Amino acid sequence: MSTSEILHSPITELSRKLRKKECTSVELTTAFLNHTKKSNPSLQSFLTIAEESALEQAKKADELLEKNATTHDLCGIPIAIKDIICTKGIKTTAASRILENFVPPFDATVVSHLKQVGSVILGKTNCDEFAMGSSNENSAFANCTNPWNTEYVPGGSSGGSACAVSSRQTPGSLGTDTGGSIRQPASLCGIVGIKPTYGRVSRFGSMAFASSLDQIGPFANTVLDAALILDVISQSCTKDSTYAQKPFIFDQQQICTSIKGKKIGVPWKFVETYANQEVLKNFKDQIDFFTKQGATIETIELPHQHFASACYYIIAPAEASSNLARYDGIRYTLQEGRTESLDQMYVQSRSLGFGEEVKRRILLGTFVLSAGYYDAYYNKAVHIRELIRKDYQDALKKVDAIATPTTPTPAFKLGAKTKNPLEMYHADVFTVGVPLAGNPGLNIPTGFSQNNLPFGLQLVGRPFEEDVLFQLGYAHELEHKWYEKVPTV
Ligand code: GLN
Repeated sequence: MSTSEILHSPITELSRKLRKKECTSVELTTAFLNHTKKSNPSLQSFLTIAEESALEQAKKADELLEKNATTHDLCGIPIAIKDIICTKGIKTTAASRILENFVPPFDATVVSHLKQVGSVILGKTNCDEFAMGSSNENSAFANCTNPWNTEYVPGGSSGGSACAVSSRQTPGSLGTDTGGSIRQPASLCGIVGIKPTYGRVSRFGSMAFASSLDQIGPFANTVLDAALILDVISQSCTKDSTYAQKPFIFDQQQICTSIKGKKIGVPWKFVETYANQEVLKNFKDQIDFFTKQGATIETIELPHQHFASACYYIIAPAEASSNLARYDGIRYTLQEGRTESLDQMYVQSRSLGFGEEVKRRILLGTFVLSAGYYDAYYNKAVHIRELIRKDYQDALKKVDAIATPTTPTPAFKLGAKTKNPLEMYHADVFTVGVPLAGNPGLNIPTGFSQNNLPFGLQLVGRPFEEDVLFQLGYAHELEHKWYEKVPTV
């Protein structure tokens, strides 16, 4: 295979070629590593390129493939990991100064599952600090850029993982999604990304942001590739009590079945209120496509959706303020030791180690949990969360999936929203409700704006019915093949 063929093939194709001995994992890995090293100065999608260990793993994968053992389709395939997910022996920073030199002594469950099937860990991808953000501009180390136009943001918080897949630095990657951090960057970079059902994938070894919302999921260029990765990472774990013990089983035949007769709900009022003109136009075209494929479109209501952002930006910071208390300058973190008292040391280490947005969230979270305000804010948000969950539950009794745009606009310019955090929060309007409810949400690419920036469609399903989302996504992909259009980087 030529380098260009390698970089432009989906995982399913690479896997076939590996088995037919038309290439080796070492060749694949070298091609992706070289492309990454060349393009990273302008994209800043990787914080660490794990060249040495990746090549070692590739060699081992080749041995496995040589023995002709029954290997998983991901054997020998390079995968990049968001830098908030722990990798044994490879620095894992959460894009934060406070963890600048942290090298975990263990692998997250998802990483050990990938290694077990023989995948190659290519490196660690850039993100917003502790996954807090929608543009990757809160990384303490570098601004990752959008591969379609490097003056624009790739989305966040898993911006590096999305950018790396879109620009073909890697055929697949992992991100985390708490309020949209997989679906939104997937949309802004024009690729496939899925937030699995809460509990589908173990969170062990993923640094906690908001534990009742966080979920790890895959990015890829095609629907089948994303499904293959989900199959591996959703396997068993005994270290996360919220893991539901329901691994997703990859079933190509099911995913490739016709979608005739499927029911798709569209909350038109919600969509029309928030999507801008070109996003709305693109969205309507996708709905027409599904109608032509024999799906039925029904208008639905999600009456509490307009509370979702407010609810999310209380619950997520509340949980974050508690989760981030562990970074105190004593155990695995940056330590500012030249202080007179222990308290001062905590204060100084955290003041130096955390960025502005993380501090804002800790303050917000501490406030909404404090005596006198707990009922007015946190408790109220918890009640509203239940109404939001019920909105999805009721709607999904009547339809198989709910469609909305993933984002109200295509990617915005670097710096466009950094001065106004509320504006940044509002950009999450279509994604934040889904993790509050716990349902799975898939982004698929749906074309390009006048400025040549990608559009995306979000499909939300019933808990543990990712297969239905993949089926709808696959039908769309088969016709449109947006993965054939690749950014020049
Ligand atoms: N943009 C949202 C936030 O800043 C979502 C982040 C995420 O999903 N990790 O909280």
